[in-house]
Amino acid sequence: DKSAYHRDTWVTVDLNAIKHNVKQIKDHLKNKEVYAVVKADAYGHGELEVAEAALEAGATRLAVAVLDEALRLREKFTDVPILVMGWTGPEYAKIAASNNITLTVFQEDWVRKSQSFLEDQQLNVHLKVDTGMGRIGIRSGEEAYDVIRACKNTNILITGLFTHFATADEPDEGYYQQQLNTFKQWVKEVKPYLPEQLNIHIGNSAAAMRYPNDMYDAVRFGISMYGLYPSKTLSQITSIQLKPAFTLHSKLIHVKKIHKGEGISYGVTYRAECDEWIGTIPIGYGDGWIRKLQNSHVLINGQKLPIVGRICMDQCMVRLNQRVDVGTEVTLIGSEQGETVSMDDVADHLETINYEIPCILGKRIPRYYL
Ligand code: PLP
Repeated sequence: DKSAYHRDTWVTVDLNAIKHNVKQIKDHLKNKEVYAVVKADAYGHGELEVAEAALEAGATRLAVAVLDEALRLREKFTDVPILVMGWTGPEYAKIAASNNITLTVFQEDWVRKSQSFLEDQQLNVHLKVDTGMGRIGIRSGEEAYDVIRACKNTNILITGLFTHFATADEPDEGYYQQQLNTFKQWVKEVKPYLPEQLNIHIGNSAAAMRYPNDMYDAVRFGISMYGLYPSKTLSQITSIQLKPAFTLHSKLIHVKKIHKGEGISYGVTYRAECDEWIGTIPIGYGDGWIRKLQNSHVLINGQKLPIVGRICMDQCMVRLNQRVDVGTEVTLIGSEQGETVSMDDVADHLETINYEIPCILGKRIPRYYL
């Protein structure tokens, strides 16, 4: 709803692109289920809108990092399985159970503590195995049996088993294979002690696209649902054609000619090399368009033009190569007339990964949905 906002900087999220990407992975994986990973406000795309599109396109489950995200989703999606993949305090077991939200467990102590908060609700949990990510999860058989035993004769029911890969997007496959083999061993050992109905899932986007035959019952599809490849390696080796959903736009709010030697922005880190046209764009580090993006490029009338001078909290300046009208659209992420500044271009400039970019573009920038 455009009338709810009053600024000329906005994000467009193409929900048809999200649906396309979900369908691509569904086709690729044949009969497996897809968790739409919508943590961190759907990687900055908007959790409710993305979840709805993903479910329409064939995802059957939602995955998030923290309970609050799950609770917001539960209000809108009353029946869809929702998994919280991170650690949740045992004192919140009751609210999770009453909202039919599945939590992740890997500590015996957690199981014991959470029981005292549960009354007669059943809490579903997935058991997390650390096969080499080194983040959360059980690492020894003993820990596994302790957790499983602690759940026996309680209303905590283990309904899933999962792990997470550290290097599924990297050229070298050795560590992936090692984690996979470790997990296979785990399944063999613990499955006899777990309920029949068990949802086993190991793959993120990279593993799902690269090793479809290794995936068990479901994959946790995050970055590539948004149309982004997990790494250069994946973009090179997969035949899956993703469509990016996220574009970032603004409009020139001021245009002026400055003369040779005149300065731009705090610290005057830029001085005009000759008489130049400079435009002002109403986005800055307060929106997550951080100062390190100085000297990166934006698109105006299909031309790549540099951001010059320091980026301010709410504005930044661009060097034009001619006079351009105030109100002219600027594309900061996306395509114009055959030219593109991609999420990866922005990430490369910041020496980071594409995941981080939509996450850091703040809530002050409205998201509009196509
Ligand atoms: N599974 C877990 C446990 C995660 O933490 C994440 C996100 O980092 C994902 C799945 C989704 O990964 P990706 O965005 O690479 O598909």
